[in-house]
Amino acid sequence: MPHLLNVWPAVSRRLASAPRVLLLFDYDGTLTPIVARPEIATLPEETRRSLTALAGMDRFVVGVVSGRGLADLEALVAVPGLVYAGNHGLEISGRGMEFVHPEAPAFEASLAEVAKSLERELAEVPGIVVDNKRLTLTVHFRGAPDRYAAQVDGTVAATAAPYVDAGKMKITRGKKVVEVRPNLDWGKGKAIEKIREDCGGSPLPVFFGDDQTDEDGFVVVQDAGGLAVYVGLTRQPTKALHQLESPAEVGLVLDLLARLDQP
Ligand SMILES: [Mg+2]
Repeated sequence: MPHLLNVWPAVSRRLASAPRVLLLFDYDGTLTPIVARPEIATLPEETRRSLTALAGMDRFVVGVVSGRGLADLEALVAVPGLVYAGNHGLEISGRGMEFVHPEAPAFEASLAEVAKSLERELAEVPGIVVDNKRLTLTVHFRGAPDRYAAQVDGTVAATAAPYVDAGKMKITRGKKVVEVRPNLDWGKGKAIEKIREDCGGSPLPVFFGDDQTDEDGFVVVQDAGGLAVYVGLTRQPTKALHQLESPAEVGLVLDLLARLDQP
């Protein structure tokens, strides 16, 4: 898997020759370093400046595709003119797009119930965050001592079991998170396809991500002839064909992208 900066001359020529480029980023672990509590994952000011500059260039459509709730994501990124996809793409907003997956709102009440039970069941676990994002639910355990990891996972699985067994919900796992999501055939990959379609004119898609739920996004952009960039150090199995080592390196690439038109 080549490091993106090592092949930048070839990649930048490819991007510069595309009439339009759809530039999409995951948020946590991609634009910002992973932190113990989700509410302190703030966007570096240089990154915000670069995203703002890119969003102002005709060549680019820029967006953020995250597991966070849409309102939370919009508030954290706070760059006008971007496409925002929250809850793994179940809700999308910006640049004339206003989308909520038609089957997702029906899950709100059950997810709220699962969240309430989990807050009760996990009350004894220090450093835990139960984040009810309305259309999906995330339990963060990065702030909890390692010895609680199995207990947290087991509790989430047991609490959601009635819905999972009935085929209504599914459990997914990421970096120190367990999520309960509607069992819909929809994720970041489908959201990226939809954003690309809504853009019109088949822009060249590029997607940067760091975690399990980004994998179907990697596949979609590569199948469309675009570029998938895995952000991270480890050689964990990924379908992305390019790599950057950290959000800091993503910041460098944002800067390079903003200067793509300059000689
Ligand atoms: Mg991430």
